[in-house]
Amino acid sequence: MQIKIVTIFPELVESFLGASLVGKAIAAGKLAVEVVDLRSFARDRHRTVDDVPYGGGGGMVMKAGPWLRALRSVAGPDARRVLLSPQGARLDERKVVELAGWGELVLMCGRYEGVDERVRDLVVDEELSIGDYVLAGGEVAAMVVVETVSRQLPGVVGLGDSVENDSFRRGLLDYPHFTRPREIEGREVPEVLLSGDHAAVAAWRRREALRATLEKRPDLLAGAALDDEDRRILAALRGE
Ligand code: SAM
Repeated sequence: MQIKIVTIFPELVESFLGASLVGKAIAAGKLAVEVVDLRSFARDRHRTVDDVPYGGGGGMVMKAGPWLRALRSVAGPDARRVLLSPQGARLDERKVVELAGWGELVLMCGRYEGVDERVRDLVVDEELSIGDYVLAGGEVAAMVVVETVSRQLPGVVGLGDSVENDSFRRGLLDYPHFTRPREIEGREVPEVLLSGDHAAVAAWRRREALRATLEKRPDLLAGAALDDEDRRILAALRGE
């Protein structure tokens, strides 16, 4: 998979790309990420990418010209062109899986008051938000997209850390995790996890995933893929 990030702060994104899971995915050739400096598509010697808003008011607006030239230069014919924006549909696990299915993503990072509206009309396939709050720029949002999408690519997350049980994957939260020591400050690891009984461990994890969802995010249950056994466990957890 190829991801291109268009930004006026390449250095902000580049340090992120060298580390951790994303860095390893890139080093292993499972993901290619190119950081594109929007300013290199400006046409004046000051490399200007913003201007005052029509209609007056405070703040600056990102000019259409550099964005149109950048997108037409870097986006392949089948690329999905995504503008990070607080006005977009909110990113969730379903969207992440969908984005991971594109061969090429172009992530466009706005700044200032945002991007000239005509850019959206001319070269954007979709707007994407990472939540109902306003960031200073799209770079952090682009990094969220790169990290979540890269976890979906085959071979990026090791088998032992399978993404299948991760929160939201089945519409449920993940079950609780424990590691050594067995006891800390009077708190013991649940006995069943020490039993070596794989079926009992699986049953415990299933119940605890349902319990965590019921306690922390009951809103998820309505859209979760539940079978009869899940419904029976939930009824018991609710004391029905
Ligand atoms: N005036 C804009 C508005 O209220 O809709 C906000 C502009 S914001 C200060 C500058 C840039 O940050 C945006 O163009 C966008 O690229 C990015 N951004 C801000 N909040 C975001 C969010 N929740 N999700 C994704 N990108 C965001």
